[in-house]
Amino acid sequence: MNIINTVQKSPQTTVDKLLERSSSLIYRQFDVEQLGGWGMLSNRLHEEYCSKNATIYLGMVCPACKGNDFSLGWGTNKNVIYCPDCGGQLGSFWSESRTKHRFSQQISPLGVTAFNGADLVGFIWGFEKTILTEDKPGLYIEMVVLDKKHRHSKLGGSAILGMFLSIEKILKDLNYPYIFVRTFNRKFMVTRWLKMLKYVQECECQEDSSRILYKKML
Ligand SMILES: [Zn+2]
Repeated sequence: MNIINTVQKSPQTTVDKLLERSSSLIYRQFDVEQLGGWGMLSNRLHEEYCSKNATIYLGMVCPACKGNDFSLGWGTNKNVIYCPDCGGQLGSFWSESRTKHRFSQQISPLGVTAFNGADLVGFIWGFEKTILTEDKPGLYIEMVVLDKKHRHSKLGGSAILGMFLSIEKILKDLNYPYIFVRTFNRKFMVTRWLKMLKYVQECECQEDSSRILYKKML
């Protein structure tokens, strides 16, 4: 298994110190089998984005009308069980079949998981995409997922730092010029860690003003 070492021998910076304090975390390259398969990944994403206590609630979708469309601008339903257009029963935005489709259909998908023993603390995942201000593609991180119990813990914060540093190492070896990530304004916690890792805010706001892009040259 691909284990990526992020801890420096003699910690110098705040980031190094935070990583040293959570040196029990193991970072590996994202692999759906390692997470228990498509069903388990779908459950985790449903919990993160579609359950009542979701940080960001994406809602439910109609399998017949929306199919494998992932845009947020239409066909996401809140507080209803049946499709307003066809009357069919709604399913999770992250149903197993949609999850499998999303994770399998992207160009050069790549991610990193953080485990504490057998417990998945979180994962980040994305794919190759070109930001408007660049000519060459970079890696776009579409998902930053932390297990519920680690959302506000020090371990969770360290896991975010460790996962981003791990994926940056992989991307440098692959000669990607930059990495970028989009966060919701409300997700302050992720923003804080990104700033600590010297990610810089980009202005590409025409799509959705509730979200902000952060980029880092590698
Ligand atoms: Zn429908």
